[in-house]
Amino acid sequence: MNKPAYPTLEALLADVRNCRVCERDLPLGPRPIVRAADEARILIVGQAPGARVHASGIAWSDASGERLRSWLDVDVTSFYDETQFAIIPMGFCYPGRGTSGDKPPRRECAQLWLDSLLEKLHNVELTLLIGQYAQRHFLGARRKPSLTETVRAWAEYAPAFIPLPHPSPRNQAWFKHHPWFESEVLPMLRARVQAATAGAGVNR
Ligand code: SF4
Repeated sequence: MNKPAYPTLEALLADVRNCRVCERDLPLGPRPIVRAADEARILIVGQAPGARVHASGIAWSDASGERLRSWLDVDVTSFYDETQFAIIPMGFCYPGRGTSGDKPPRRECAQLWLDSLLEKLHNVELTLLIGQYAQRHFLGARRKPSLTETVRAWAEYAPAFIPLPHPSPRNQAWFKHHPWFESEVLPMLRARVQAATAGAGVNR
């Protein structure tokens, strides 16, 4: 079946937000959580909403989001300014609990929607790849054997991409055992975010 052509990002987002393709497999039902505007300079690609984000309907409205905003050095208002930050996870709806943590993002979102969304985001100059699913999709064979190695090799993916670990509190041990992330990667990340949003009145 041919995908419909969308005249605007808004029209596409309206259909994305009405998507119910996985309805039978989602324990809390569909609630696609995606935000973007034509002008967005930075694209944040995460994993999939957790239960708390599903309940709020607001991307990254949890402890992971708090840590992510501190990594980026932006305040809440700026983070949710769609003209600066587009937020598109690999899976748009909460996928439910698995045996250890949440299930992986549903593959259907990328198959059905992701390319169409990316085509509409003409002003993105920096894409943050948060976690293994985003890195697998966007970096493909350029990925290293582990997420840690991929993050450490960030310079290979510049200037378009910055691979990052997930800022979840569950990754506290990873942050502790890889101090180079805070001393080397975060200053670079903040500088890139500041450069991409320069002149946009982003609050820090
Ligand atoms: S997970 Fe993705 S494809 Fe499935 S219902 Fe939600 S938006 Fe649609």
